[in-house]
Amino acid sequence: MSTDIRSTECTHEPRCPAVDSIDRDAAQVIACHPEQGWSLLCNGVVLFDDTGEILPNGHCTHARRAELTAAALHRAA
Ligand SMILES: [Zn+2]
Repeated sequence: MSTDIRSTECTHEPRCPAVDSIDRDAAQVIACHPEQGWSLLCNGVVLFDDTGEILPNGHCTHARRAELTAAALHRAA
């Protein structure tokens, strides 16, 4: 009877952070594939070893390491 659609699949206590939460990466890992370099979190986020992630809505977050590299290149240019 819950109307909280973001948590319908989460049975953890306390509940995992929502996908739109700033601490979404803190959700429980429900599927881990280290050989492929990614993990599926309880809130539906796919988290990659390089800190990149894909959200359930299809939004992709680039690896922070790559962003730092890009920033360094811009600074050098
Ligand atoms: Zn959970």
